[in-house]
Amino acid sequence: MKRIFNFSAGPAMLPESVLHQAADEMLDYKDSGMSVMEMSHRSKTYQGIIDEAEADLRKLLNIPANYKVLFLQGGGTTQFAMVPMNLMKNRVADYIITGHWAKKAYDEAKIFGKANIIASSEDKLFSYIPDLKNLKYTPEADYVYMCENNTIFGTKYKSYPDTHGKILVNDASSCFLSEPLDVTKFGLIFAGAQKNVGPAGVTIVIIREDLLAIPPLPGTPTLLQYKIHADNGSMYNTPPAYNIYICGLVFKYLLSIGGLEAVKANNEKKAAILYNYIDSSKIFKGTVEKASRSLMNVCFRTGDPKLDEAFLEGAKKAGFSNLPGHRSVGGMRASIYNAMPMAGVQALVDYMKKFEAEHVK
Ligand SMILES: *Cc1c(COP(=O)(O)O)cnc(C)c1O
Repeated sequence: MKRIFNFSAGPAMLPESVLHQAADEMLDYKDSGMSVMEMSHRSKTYQGIIDEAEADLRKLLNIPANYKVLFLQGGGTTQFAMVPMNLMKNRVADYIITGHWAKKAYDEAKIFGKANIIASSEDKLFSYIPDLKNLKYTPEADYVYMCENNTIFGTKYKSYPDTHGKILVNDASSCFLSEPLDVTKFGLIFAGAQKNVGPAGVTIVIIREDLLAIPPLPGTPTLLQYKIHADNGSMYNTPPAYNIYICGLVFKYLLSIGGLEAVKANNEKKAAILYNYIDSSKIFKGTVEKASRSLMNVCFRTGDPKLDEAFLEGAKKAGFSNLPGHRSVGGMRASIYNAMPMAGVQALVDYMKKFEAEHVK
């Protein structure tokens, strides 16, 4: 068996111990005589799995009792529509545009009402997080929308906007569980699992209870209403049962290594190894402002597309996968989510140093 260092932005690496446990439990989950994939989601055994997953997530993030945890399908992208369908009662919302995914969410919101851009970093190719101090919120706006970690551009918020009581919605897909998160700052947080938490196919939503009383826009399908999922414990219909089970194993693993403070310390160490080298390199340059750097997605380039290509070709041969930047931006992107081991980052930096020595005279 061979495992390689996979720098994919998502689906991404999972903790090896979780994969081993899933393998061990594949054919016979805890003497049930079946795999979790084959199990009725209405069984007592499965109820135990989803309840434990939720309880462990609540422990990890310190989620207050007045927030519901939902396990949904449809990816982050479905949330781009569910958010306005469920929260845009006056059909007005404010959006902070920090990259590809925030823009997509904004475009989707425009289907349902008036979406206002109150800040954007598009002027400098999304290489920074805009100043959050003097944002001008629209008085009638039903919510303010942000994307905390910009997967494609490699930026992350280091603080949150003060929305003066307006609901703040956070797409946390690519930094979820990479560090502690103050849930109380938000009305709604969502995260597609495949970036940092589990397999593609389950999206975690954390929603403040009072938001469930907002009537959805007329015509909102049953399955796209948060309240339906909340009232039915994420089991109005068949949930992505196996994916939730894997997420649950990841939650347990994160608790076992010390929770999110420990996870954050580890992520800071890993990112520092990479950024420190990039900052000292004569050939590689980071593409975003230092103050806005993501710990999860590290974007860099040489400035010469031919050299980037040579670097990527060699990287592939050396056993590093998924290092090319997103097709819309080029260059390189190393996604170093929770499950990327320190050794993977170190090996990448060693390869970068070798490449630099060979290409700088
Ligand atoms: C990947 C990603 C999405 C889209 O997720 P899908 O599950 O593919 O719909 C949305 N937001 C962010 C920040 C992402 O990284």
